[in-house]
Amino acid sequence: MIRRVFLVAIVFGSVISVSSTSILATEPPQAKLLYKIDTADRVVFLTVDDGSDRPADAATELERLQWPISSFILPSKVGAYASWFSNLGSRNDIGTHSARHIALKGLSFEKQKKEICEGERRIKEKFGSTTGYFRPPYGSWDKRTLQAAAACGISHVVLWTVSLNGRTITTWDGKIHPGNIVLVHYIRSMAQSIKQLEKRLKVQGLTVARLSDYLK
Ligand SMILES: [Zn+2]
Repeated sequence: MIRRVFLVAIVFGSVISVSSTSILATEPPQAKLLYKIDTADRVVFLTVDDGSDRPADAATELERLQWPISSFILPSKVGAYASWFSNLGSRNDIGTHSARHIALKGLSFEKQKKEICEGERRIKEKFGSTTGYFRPPYGSWDKRTLQAAAACGISHVVLWTVSLNGRTITTWDGKIHPGNIVLVHYIRSMAQSIKQLEKRLKVQGLTVARLSDYLK
C-alpha cells in the first residue's frame, strides 16, 4: 500500500492530498458504541449478562412482568439450556459477551477479534442467530474493540448506565433516565434486582422497552 501511494503521488505530483486520502481509506470500520439510547420516550432497556446461574424465581418475575430483555451470554454457560434463556420475558434477544470473558482494553486487534468472533460464532451455534450486539466483559474496551467487533459483523457495542446487584442500584447521578441501559447478571439475586427495578421504574413512570426497536 505504501509503495502504491508513493507511485501515485509521483504520477500526480500531489503527495499531500493522495497520502491523506489513503490514510482515511485504511481506517477500519467501527461498530457503534452506546451507553444509552437517545430518546424522550419514558423507557429503559434491561440487559442481562454472563449466564452463571439460571434462577427460577427470576424467570417467574420476567414471566409476570412480560418485559423484553437483551442478554449478553458466555458460550460456555449455555450448555443444553439455550431454550431456558430464549424463553425469558416477553422476548429475550441474545447477543455475545466474548469467548472467555477477558478484559479487552489494550489487547491487539487480532486478539480482540478472536475473542469477539469466537463468542459470536459459538452463541450463533447455540441459539441459531444473534442480535449482532456485543458487550465487552467488565465494560473494558478501546478503539480496537470497536474495529474488531465490526470485523466480526457486530453492529453495536452496548455498555450500560445503570446496574443492579441484589437491591442495590448504581447510576451515574443517582437517577434513572429515559433511554438508560440497565445491567443485571444471571445470578442468584437476579429476581431481587428485577423487583427493585420494577419499584423504581413505577415511581419514575418508566417502562422497559426492547433495545432492538431503538437501534434500527
Ligand atoms: Zn460479564
